[in-house]
Amino acid sequence: MRVGIGYDSHRLVSGRPLILGGEHIPSDRGLEGHSDADAAAHALTDAILGAAGIGNIGELFPDTDATWKDADSLALLRAAHERVKQQGYRAVQADLTIILERPKLGPALPAIRRGLAEALGLPPDGICVKPKTNEGMGFIGRGEGIAVLAVATLEPC
Ligand code: MG
Repeated sequence: MRVGIGYDSHRLVSGRPLILGGEHIPSDRGLEGHSDADAAAHALTDAILGAAGIGNIGELFPDTDATWKDADSLALLRAAHERVKQQGYRAVQADLTIILERPKLGPALPAIRRGLAEALGLPPDGICVKPKTNEGMGFIGRGEGIAVLAVATLEPC
């Protein structure tokens, strides 16, 4: 069994949709980025790539490459998982913490879990997603951005 960790953060700005785990979440602001800026998918992608020992999302999908402009980050996650499988491993489980002050993610959590799980071919209980506030501290506390931590485990396939 192998374990990997991933982290991502994006700035919250006006005029962008808020997408986490492929789910559009009602919000007056969204995450800024080259792709759809789905920080949950990005952190999980880095976690599985790290567990397989094959680099990181920026190496596989560079933001200098127009191919990935406004890309669906679940498609990036699926593509990264294919690379992981080529190394002889598959994802079996992941755990994520999404750190943000608002909006409240509670109603969207099942859809976020389902989106990430389906991208990896896992049942919904293969992915856990926990929202946390930062208690008003720092850039997250000021509502300037969102951060996501992810841990994933792989098994030989
Ligand atoms: Mg990112």
